[in-house]
Amino acid sequence: MSGRAPAGGPAPAVRPTPTGWSNWAGNQRATASPVRPRDHAEVVTTVRAAAAEGRRIRPVGSGHSFTDIARTTDLRMELDALTGPPRVDAERRLVTVPAGITLWQLNDLLAEHRLALPNLGDIDSQTIAGAISTGTHGTGAGYGCLSTFVEELLLVTGTGELLRCSASQHPDVFAAARVGLGALGVIVEVTLRCVDAFVLRAHERPAALADVLAALPDLIGGNDHFEFYWFPYTDRVQVKTNNRVPADDRPLPRWRAWLDDEFLSNMVFGAACRLGRTAPAVVPSISAISARALTERSYTARSDRVFCTARRVRFTEMEYGLPRAALPEALAGLRRIVDGLPFKVLFPVEVRFTGPDDLWLSHGYDRESAYLAIHQYVGMPDEPYFRAFEAIAADLAGRPHWGKLHYRDAASLAPAYPRFADFLAVRDRLDPGRVFANAYTDRVLGG
Ligand SMILES: Cc1cc2nc3c(=O)[nH]c(=O)nc-3n(C[C@H](O)[C@H](O)[C@H](O)COP(=O)(O)OP(=O)(O)OC[C@H]3O[C@@H](n4cnc5c(N)ncnc54)[C@H](O)[C@@H]3O)c2cc1C
Repeated sequence: MSGRAPAGGPAPAVRPTPTGWSNWAGNQRATASPVRPRDHAEVVTTVRAAAAEGRRIRPVGSGHSFTDIARTTDLRMELDALTGPPRVDAERRLVTVPAGITLWQLNDLLAEHRLALPNLGDIDSQTIAGAISTGTHGTGAGYGCLSTFVEELLLVTGTGELLRCSASQHPDVFAAARVGLGALGVIVEVTLRCVDAFVLRAHERPAALADVLAALPDLIGGNDHFEFYWFPYTDRVQVKTNNRVPADDRPLPRWRAWLDDEFLSNMVFGAACRLGRTAPAVVPSISAISARALTERSYTARSDRVFCTARRVRFTEMEYGLPRAALPEALAGLRRIVDGLPFKVLFPVEVRFTGPDDLWLSHGYDRESAYLAIHQYVGMPDEPYFRAFEAIAADLAGRPHWGKLHYRDAASLAPAYPRFADFLAVRDRLDPGRVFANAYTDRVLGG
């Protein structure tokens, strides 16, 4: 192990009274004792004490995973109070931040220094540590998941040691911990390789699914960031492309941004979902109207403001990363499933693309991926839908997003990840007493 552990200050007060926790979607709940360390020494002390007493700790982010990956009934370690000013090396574009910083805080910080993350997912509410721990990704064939932007990590292992890892220091830990499922240690600090701040031109337009599938290679290769949404019960999709441009010369008027992103995408869509939940027979019509109601629009803005939007309509989600060539077959299977379900699907299906990376538990490990994300409105049945799609996706060598609902276990996941055994070996070394285990890691990694 490298890095000297701090002497260890007083242990942060483990509040005796357990408190309730639930994730964003409200489908995971638990009561646990919260612990809120303020510095690295307090993390070390807490982990050592927990290890000595045979207790379990779960580091948590902002609760935006749909799985029980962040759920614990023992000690819930919240990292939002971890202090330490960010360190910005503007020349090398390297930025070091406390692990509990949210993506929106990080994006603002980077913008102040005329920097940005090269790519982002759909929202910015997650913490950086939470986002990278599950392989959170956006879209763009030239990009891997957010974890690929990590240059260095500082983590507290299960034996309470501070370990710094990077491509040159403990490279095996670095390959494992960048998508570590919270199973290898508490990440306390993250160093990110950023890029110069950039402007994106967003272009959104309705299209026919068949046309988009026919033009897929051009759409993927010809845009920095390309994705589409398929509307169940229709042949229609909404295509979104984001491309880098030199100037922010076509900003969206405030009223239009509010109309599209707040009123239509959240308020009207929320009302449509509530209607569909009470009157399922109208769902195919709602889906068809939604597909037609979305008009073409184009605008420019700061990169993170294009990538990320507010999601206020609550849903549950499963997402599978697939070898890209398997997408048409997976979509065809999904359409058959949707048509045959005894209930209706109220949410569009999101399709995204990433390039290969070399992170052991990344969904994009060593292959070009297409991601298929399926959603269901809260309060509607989701499991039969998700299980049916999982059967297809698993057969196509799919890898489930660690933060989104899935039903796989260690035995079925191991063959999908060529470096699975190597990850387990690093885990055995870093957390021999399984301080960071929970029911989710028991299921997907084994005990
Ligand atoms: C509305 C919505 C939109 C989303 N959009 C996308 C998207 O576009 N792309 C995508 O890929 N995913 C997306 N997600 C999924 C989300 O990005 C991931 O589930 C992410 O992990 C959530 O981050 P979090 O901070 O909430 O972490 P949590 O869900 O709280 O925790 C996730 C994991 O991180 C671990 N963890 C947290 N902090 C630490 C730490 N300091 N050290 C070690 N481990 C830690 C936890 O133990 C847990 O294993 C979305 C989710 C929602 C609800």
